[in-house]
Amino acid sequence: MASSVLRAIRKATKMQPKIVFVLGGPGAGKGTQCQKIVENFGYVHLSAGDLLREERNKPGSEYGELIENYIREGKIVPVEITCSLLENAINGSGKDKFLVDGFPRNQNNLDGWNKSVADKIQLQFVLVFECPMEICTERCLSRGAGGSGRSDDNLESLKKRFNTYLNETKPIIDYYEKLSLVRRIDATRSADEVYDDVKKIFQDYDVAGGDK
Ligand code: UDP
Ligand code: MG
Repeated sequence: MASSVLRAIRKATKMQPKIVFVLGGPGAGKGTQCQKIVENFGYVHLSAGDLLREERNKPGSEYGELIENYIREGKIVPVEITCSLLENAINGSGKDKFLVDGFPRNQNNLDGWNKSVADKIQLQFVLVFECPMEICTERCLSRGAGGSGRSDDNLESLKKRFNTYLNETKPIIDYYEKLSLVRRIDATRSADEVYDDVKKIFQDYDVAGGDK
């Protein structure tokens, strides 16, 4: 069957993978909250940053050095690499609900996703963790001091990561805001307090029959 027909059937029968994008500055708590959502709502957590680090660490990876340079500089890796890692993870999982954490982060990410993946999935909403730079920086530095092993949890990389967030990721959030897909969370509080709000968003979505 032609793949376009198959896609139309999957769409009509709601068999497409369901996706929530999770965005927020470095250290806003995306990963921590995603773990909690996975435990309670049965999503699969896909961190774009983790997938890139995993690819970087593969012996002989064609893109290892490029990825490491981008990460240290707080820049966004070209979308072809990130999108194919995400697509492989989605297709290879056998599951149907995904938290895509830390993506799309800039216009290039958004364009690449819209061109090659958006039609094949159902975007439920975009969860945004709001947290000022001072708190984010403090959290990442203590994560670094606590042995995160991340080459970008240092003050110099953090400044660049935060600039990238303000200049490149915020406009992407504005784009989804215009589509009424953004759900914002005050992420300055403790992880459990933040999660109380997160939980409500997922419960409300289910109650409202967002998928139906
Ligand atoms: N990154 C990227 N594209 C993505 C996601 C991450 O290029 O779609 C790179 C980017 O350099 C970013 C780094 O990976 O600064 C770390 O991302 P991660 O999401 O792990 O950081 P977090 O925001 O969770 O602290
Ligand atoms: Mg993370």
